[in-house]
Amino acid sequence: MTQYPIYLDYNATTPCDPLVIEAMLPYFGVHFGNAASKTHAYGWLAEEAVEIAREQVAHLIHASPNEIIFTSGATESINLAIRGIIEPFNGGETHIITYSTEHKAVLDVCTYLQTKGTKVTYLPVQVDGLPDIQRLKDAITPHTKLIAMMYANNETGVIMPVKAVAAIAHQHRIPFFCDATQAVGKIMVDVNTDGIDLLCFSAHKMYGPKGCGVLYMKKKTPKINLMPLFYGGGHERTLRSGTLNIPGIVGIGKASDICATNMFSDAARLHILRNKLVEALVDGTTILLNADLAHMLPHVANISFLHPEGFDLIKKLSKSIALSSGSACTSATIEPSHVLTAMGLSEQHAAKAIRFSLGRFTTETEIDQTIGFIQSAVASL
Ligand SMILES: *Cc1c(COP(=O)(O)O)cnc(C)c1O
Repeated sequence: MTQYPIYLDYNATTPCDPLVIEAMLPYFGVHFGNAASKTHAYGWLAEEAVEIAREQVAHLIHASPNEIIFTSGATESINLAIRGIIEPFNGGETHIITYSTEHKAVLDVCTYLQTKGTKVTYLPVQVDGLPDIQRLKDAITPHTKLIAMMYANNETGVIMPVKAVAAIAHQHRIPFFCDATQAVGKIMVDVNTDGIDLLCFSAHKMYGPKGCGVLYMKKKTPKINLMPLFYGGGHERTLRSGTLNIPGIVGIGKASDICATNMFSDAARLHILRNKLVEALVDGTTILLNADLAHMLPHVANISFLHPEGFDLIKKLSKSIALSSGSACTSATIEPSHVLTAMGLSEQHAAKAIRFSLGRFTTETEIDQTIGFIQSAVASL
């Protein structure tokens, strides 16, 4: 039975998989122990649950369990990775290279570090959302301490050339950080073959709970020395002090396990539904797909409705479909998406963008109904 509004905002957050909830529940109740309690069974049980989750998460991204640090989410992992690398230089010359289409969490950490003296290069992207590799090579300086590029874009679904960028970083012995929040559990992410040194993701974008995330940090040489964000009990190899969120960690472990089993069949099914949606709606004149299907996540479509009242569409539809607009509404003013404008879209065009993001519980009936709702809303514009 379809629940309204039809949820097509999986890139914002996903519901917990019922199997994840089931796995987490005992850890709120009978298994309430503190994983740092080494003197009794309550603690041992909690620690055992954390280590199982660590293995499940590591397996999903082809890492080793001892390369996994549990955090509160991608935002914290991003802060830990970027500030953790830069701040030990303590005012020395530092330079970061990143991309103008990154998530705000990455961009805002970089702007913060700029206020502390770090130089940051925000590389542009082409109209298809992809970077020009030569520009990256040209941007590297002797002071470049980090290259940060996302795996897949949250607004457009564009999949970035991770391997190529990582290879360039390594030629120059620069660590490569990848925000893989939209990719992990959806498409193949292999930290070894991709060449990733630091990688983050959030449980709530992959059918796990909110408030839990991961930072992967490569163990092999060259060793990365991260400075922690905060100090305390020395949990997570002193990189992330604070009592572990056992239910959350059990949840991200179970969610990883389910993704490892289902992600390819989920992706194949959603690919068909996404293409059906795109084919039914996009007309190439007033309704345009932003980005290129050839290098996009299979479950995402960012579409602009260029009709004069295109930006009202989402409001009109909000009773029937839960969607995200291509703009961030900051106190009455509509700010067009920085991702779409970075791809060269006009502010007008970007302001009329709607993101459709499908997920594990999306049905064909929901997509058929969505097409119907949108077609009649467009006809009424
Ligand atoms: C959602 C998201 C984040 C932030 O995740 P939180 O769970 O809110 O910390 C970072 N990067 C990308 C690409 C995202 O989609």
